[in-house]
Amino acid sequence: MYLRISLDDERTGLGIERQRHDSAALCKRLGWEVAKVYADENLSAYKRSVDRPAWEELLADLEAGAIQGVACYDVDRIARQPKQLERLIDLYESKRRLVFATVAGEIDLSTADGRFLARLLVNVANKSSADTARRVARAQLQRAQQGKVAGGGHRPYGYERDNVTVVPAEAAVIQDAAKRVLLGETLISICKSFDGQYPTPGKSVKWSRTVLRAILLNPRIAGLRSYKGSVLIGEDGSPVKAIWEPIVSVETWEQLTSLLTDKSRQANGGRVDRKYLLSGLLACPCAARMSGATSKGVPEYRCTPDRGCGRTRRKAKALDEYVEKELLDYLERQSMEPVGDVSPESVLDRDIANAEQSLSALIDEWTAGRISDAVFFAAQARKEAALNALKGERAQEKRRQTMKAPVGAGVRQKWAGLTLPQKRAILFEVLQAVKVHPKPVTAPKRFDPYYYELIRRTD
Ligand SMILES: [Zn+2]
Repeated sequence: MYLRISLDDERTGLGIERQRHDSAALCKRLGWEVAKVYADENLSAYKRSVDRPAWEELLADLEAGAIQGVACYDVDRIARQPKQLERLIDLYESKRRLVFATVAGEIDLSTADGRFLARLLVNVANKSSADTARRVARAQLQRAQQGKVAGGGHRPYGYERDNVTVVPAEAAVIQDAAKRVLLGETLISICKSFDGQYPTPGKSVKWSRTVLRAILLNPRIAGLRSYKGSVLIGEDGSPVKAIWEPIVSVETWEQLTSLLTDKSRQANGGRVDRKYLLSGLLACPCAARMSGATSKGVPEYRCTPDRGCGRTRRKAKALDEYVEKELLDYLERQSMEPVGDVSPESVLDRDIANAEQSLSALIDEWTAGRISDAVFFAAQARKEAALNALKGERAQEKRRQTMKAPVGAGVRQKWAGLTLPQKRAILFEVLQAVKVHPKPVTAPKRFDPYYYELIRRTD
């Protein structure tokens, strides 16, 4: 086995261990016995002047017939200069029974094709640094899989500059925000109440919706490690636990993620509207969502020309009362409905376990060198996206069961004690939309439920 560690590899602290592990696995798979490990450290094959004692020893042993072949991580570990490679190729050409294998590819110096390919690769490696980028990416992933902190960047809100120690005052702010978001309060309303009360993140003077959302969506607050934008799954198939303390539970974080990234639940296209119960829920016949406004002091809902036809208007009071009554009737009936044998949640749990297993099997294949980096990263991204979607569903399911809509007797009493944002949160939880049907101009002016249709969520 030949290992070569460059300065870059050494800085990450993972280079030698990784090459040794992967190369040993390769030998085991091929049924080769490792006679000797040749390791050159902190040397660059790129600089011609640098001598490599282990490399010279390897060539001598091959020449003397002390070993029958070489296993290494990659051809460019052996040689990055065409001249170095030629010395090795000369040996393979004169001693036809020598064997050769690399973890990274299917290059075999014992065949003419392999020698041709190796020459080609070394010429390419000589000119490009793409392979360095690949090795760095892999080292980063390994760091991430160990749950370590990523280097650089700003201090994350809730943690000291070491990225590990929790700042209790800021952690309390995050916990407060999480609780209120899950209760249906809007980010903007939370930010307003935070200003002047709580320390702001980074250099910001005021709290903003975007910043708060980013803090709450960051898996780090749940003690999870992310990599390239998604939560990292470890080799055992479960999320990688970071070395820092969580501020909220994983379950809470999953609920937050599902709530904050669910576009269909963002009433009024994300705009705040705390005065009108049905803003963003009413769907105009033109399909645009209607918003609340007052006309001569009378609250109403209208389709605005910037988002729809701009022609539909409905008085708010009677419509609010009607939808509220329908909703409460529905929620009261809920407790009577029989519960099925298999809850959707346990089905989701099983699907998630399967997805995690499949991802971990993929990581195994890659670690063992049986699939290429290109195939691995593409497949990993797909599998992680599927897994995250399932987790989002499970979080929604949990939310539906635990938090939002009170059901059964006493619903009306609970409803009366809720704030408008909380009522709206429940409405959006239960209803997809309230369809507004066209009303003929000749129709009586009074409210008629005939022109409205409540569309329940079925997901
Ligand atoms: Zn319209």
